[in-house]
Amino acid sequence: MEQPIPPYLFAFAVGEIGCREVGPRTKVFAESVLAVLDAAAKEFAGTEDMIRVGEKLFGEYDWGRFDLLVLPPSFPYGGMENPRMVFLTPTVIKGDASGAQVVAHELAHSWTGNLITNKTNDHFWLNEGFTTYAERRIVEAVQGEDIAALNIGIGWKCLVDTMERFNDNMEFTKLLNNQEGVDPDDIYSEVPYEKGFQFLLRIERQIGRAAFDEFIKKYIAAFKFQSIDTHMFLDFLKANVPGIENDVDLKTWTEGTGIPPDAMEPVSNIYTKIVSLANEFKQGRMPSEEEVASWHGQQWELYLENLPKSVEASQVTALDCRYRLSESRDYEVKVAFLQLAIGSRCSEYYNVVEKTLKEVGRMKYLRPLYTALVQGNAGKEEEKIFAQRVFAEARETYHPIAQGVVESIFSKHL
Ligand SMILES: [Zn+2]
Repeated sequence: MEQPIPPYLFAFAVGEIGCREVGPRTKVFAESVLAVLDAAAKEFAGTEDMIRVGEKLFGEYDWGRFDLLVLPPSFPYGGMENPRMVFLTPTVIKGDASGAQVVAHELAHSWTGNLITNKTNDHFWLNEGFTTYAERRIVEAVQGEDIAALNIGIGWKCLVDTMERFNDNMEFTKLLNNQEGVDPDDIYSEVPYEKGFQFLLRIERQIGRAAFDEFIKKYIAAFKFQSIDTHMFLDFLKANVPGIENDVDLKTWTEGTGIPPDAMEPVSNIYTKIVSLANEFKQGRMPSEEEVASWHGQQWELYLENLPKSVEASQVTALDCRYRLSESRDYEVKVAFLQLAIGSRCSEYYNVVEKTLKEVGRMKYLRPLYTALVQGNAGKEEEKIFAQRVFAEARETYHPIAQGVVESIFSKHL
């Protein structure tokens, strides 16, 4: 690399790897299997458009190349923002270009995270909150406001659920927290991403988008190729947006626990419609074919995430008979459905659960599925034994970080 940066991560890729050119500064690399390479090249064809949007919003792309490498299914994350060559899970290849959202996220890290890096993990939100905000701005420009609103809605639900996960340890619901003596993998959550996003959105709402866009550009230009902390960000904010501390409670946002009262659940027609359909399911009404005609993965994901954790088993099978969610090629949809099936104790889906847990190692899927199987006590012995058996058989195929996550779920609930 020509750009000197403090190295905090080394990434190696070894294998029989082929590539396809998808843009003037982007090649897609993947296992040298034609079908995989073709699918990847198709899915990521829009990458150059996204880079241009990013440059318009955040300033020049400073890293030369932006290549993508598709990893085997055991890769534990959605993506990793290694400068010049992003690593991606193969689960983002869905065949409908919706995987672009993860690429947008990793691309956004070219400015926030790679150009400006958090000084220590206590300030991780500076990397991830900013990147989640930047990702959604890129998605909005490329895929439209509706898709961006869906992503914000999925993120909002996730933030609310994450707060529940930490109800016995609220320290890690703070943006700025103290991780001394803590393994960052143990407390990894959506808080730095979604609460960080909400904080930046709150500032944007206060000063207006045009002023906020100008502020972000200035922020990136001022701190690029530096590592900073939350206090440096707040000082810069107060210096460049005079009086902001009187309008937005910066201390509550950065040092308080939980979700601040002035955070905002998204408002958009599509979001409101899907959430209200999910609420109607609780009264036994399934969405009609007409209502779901235009739905893709993200619409289904938002719908399923907003259903209660458990319903009548017959409702689960009826929903699946009609919409074949357990067979979805989109893991976000499949896993959200399987969580509902486990929560409702629909054991006929446990073979699909087992297959899923054995074919992917992305923690985004392992964590909710194993948690759904082992949490709670009353009469769940069968599920607990099942979870332990599947893990014993799949363990070797998981990345060590993912193994640790499953083990910590077991030690909390078993
Ligand atoms: Zn990230």
